[in-house]
Amino acid sequence: MKTIRLGLLGVGKIARDQHIPVLRASAEFTLAAVASRHSAVDSTPSFHDLSQMLDGAEIDAVAICTPPQNHFEAARTCLARGKHVLLEKPPCASTTELDILAAEAARQRLTLLQSWHSRFAPGVALAAEILRGRKLRRATVIWKEDVRRWHPGQSWIWEAGGFGVFDPGINALSILTAVVTDEIFLRDATLHVPTNCQTPIAAELSLSTVGGAEIAAEFDFRHTGTQTWDIALETDQGPVLLQQGGSVVAVDGKTLDTPHDAHHPEYTPLYRRFAELVRAGRSDVDARPFRLVADAFLMGRRLAVEPFHE
Ligand code: NAP
Repeated sequence: MKTIRLGLLGVGKIARDQHIPVLRASAEFTLAAVASRHSAVDSTPSFHDLSQMLDGAEIDAVAICTPPQNHFEAARTCLARGKHVLLEKPPCASTTELDILAAEAARQRLTLLQSWHSRFAPGVALAAEILRGRKLRRATVIWKEDVRRWHPGQSWIWEAGGFGVFDPGINALSILTAVVTDEIFLRDATLHVPTNCQTPIAAELSLSTVGGAEIAAEFDFRHTGTQTWDIALETDQGPVLLQQGGSVVAVDGKTLDTPHDAHHPEYTPLYRRFAELVRAGRSDVDARPFRLVADAFLMGRRLAVEPFHE
């Protein structure tokens, strides 16, 4: 079977940490080109921008790894040029942009994988399977990390459309919406916004399932202690705990084995999924985590907090 020739747009942290090594190890993809304003990638044709890459390289698909504010224009350009698209999270700057992309991909019979990488964390599928046989009573999400450690120099996070603490927080919501079978909606939100930023540095959400299970979520980018990415689910048959961003799952107090790729546990299966979708001529778009964040921006009370300086 021919490999899928992939062009990568935006050579930043996630491209270097995950996409490039996974693509280099993949039997299904060839990293055929990159487009970057500042970086070339060894032994890969490197272009300065997307249109140069689309004109100059023979590619079937593009992985968009730039900040969310320019995902829409980039993805639209790729679809218009007949390329399949893997779109990094958060998908776009607005929910309507994502609707337009999904419709355009369907119209052109191209694949759009609007990716939620955290859903591929080793414990998530198992937790979802277990939750299907239980009734959720309540849940708690604690997503606390040090922005200086994980997002150095990423000023786009603080600009409008940059999501702030919801850049990682949306990962928690992508897991939550994957494992909880009931629809989840937002009841209340508080957003802590530094006076020199457009996006929140911390947030508390009060959510509920339509069945009435309450979910409390805390997101904090100012956290310098033990980094915490946990979701605790209380069910009618005992607790289900997802830790380390979904990597570890404990059921009724017992940690379960979850076989996974040791080096890239989320992005190896993510690219496998992309290959399956391209070969099957299908797309995968799930806007639920994105809508919850959009609702938090709509409904949330804003508290001004001290300016953020890196
Ligand atoms: P990053 O380190 O800032 O890299 C983004 C790259 O996009 C930049 O290096 C730059 O590459 C390019 N770019 C194009 N236009 C830009 C602009 N106006 N401002 C800044 N950069 C621009 O960010 P990242 O962490 O890789 O994140 C990129 C996307 O992946 C985001 O949507 C993010 O949420 C998602 N993501 C990140 C992580 C993570 O752990 N960091 C994990 C999963 C998903 P060139 O200089 O090459 O043009």
